[in-house]
Parts: sequence; structure tokens; C-alpha cells
Amino acid sequence: MRCSAETTLTPDEMRRLEALPCATDFGLQAPYACDLEEHGPETRHSTLAQMQHYEPGGLVYWWLLWDDAGHQEVRLWPGCDRLVVDETCLLIKDHPGVCDQEIGWP
Ligand SMILES: [Zn+2]
Ligand SMILES: [Zn+2]
Repeated sequence: MRCSAETTLTPDEMRRLEALPCATDFGLQAPYACDLEEHGPETRHSTLAQMQHYEPGGLVYWWLLWDDAGHQEVRLWPGCDRLVVDETCLLIKDHPGVCDQEIGWP
């Protein structure tokens, strides 16, 4: 089961993500849904909010992290990067639960 939490970017967070150089056209879609499997309060909700793509082959991941108390932040953090079949997992590094190469993409 996927976690059912959702959140939206604040205008400041939106501007920050839109202003990044080399950003992919990843979306900035609202609302953002948590990409993790169902999890406890010790793990913050997490979704990939934006990626920067530097040639050659460099990807920088920006994550939206939030909890049920209303604390939210956008932060740089590595991705999981484990291979699932022949695709890279698109969850945050050290995420709980199983890897999934599909979630994270619109
Ligand atoms: Zn969640
Ligand atoms: Zn993973």
C-alpha cells in the first residue's frame, strides 16, 4: 500500500525549484503525494520534487519532505539508485520499504 499523505509546495518553495539551473521538466505538480510505502511517524513523507541534470550523467535530486505536524522542507539528498530490474529506483536514499522503479514519475 502506498502512503496516502499529500502536500503542496509553498510559493517560496515553488520559486526555488523553478529557478534551479538545468532543471528537468519534472512537473512541480500539485498536490504532491508521498512516494513511499505506508510508513510510521518516524519516517517523513517524501517525494521527488525536482531533478537537475548536468552533463555528463550527473543528476541532482531535490526532495520534498514533510511530516504530519505540518513541517515541510525542500532539500538536496541523494537518490536510492538501486537497480530494480533494469531501472533505477526513484526514491530517496535509505528509504524504508521496497524499491520501485515506477513511482516518482508522473
Ligand atoms: Zn508518506
Ligand atoms: Zn530504492
